[in-house]
Amino acid sequence: MHDFLLAKEIVDQIEEIVKKKDINQKIKKVKIELGQVALSHDGFPEHTEDISIENLQFGLKSLAKNFLKETEFKIEKVSGENWKIIDIEV
Ligand SMILES: [Zn+2]
Repeated sequence: MHDFLLAKEIVDQIEEIVKKKDINQKIKKVKIELGQVALSHDGFPEHTEDISIENLQFGLKSLAKNFLKETEFKIEKVSGENWKIIDIEV
């Protein structure tokens, strides 16, 4: 569950960065650091869940449109309860 929710958040954040930086090219690579992600959903209080990189990749691919169609998502597992976009390569 968290993998797909997180995929949506990541795509939203990439879109924001792309707008802010006025990037008009296709994005080749996005590097992401992935820790545990605490989310509340479906009426449950906030909780963490281990996210599988494959599921996250799949979620990203299925949500990606236009400028993210050919993007390679490099996801690296880290400790801690956070995730962040490390780098965007055009
Ligand atoms: Zn959950």
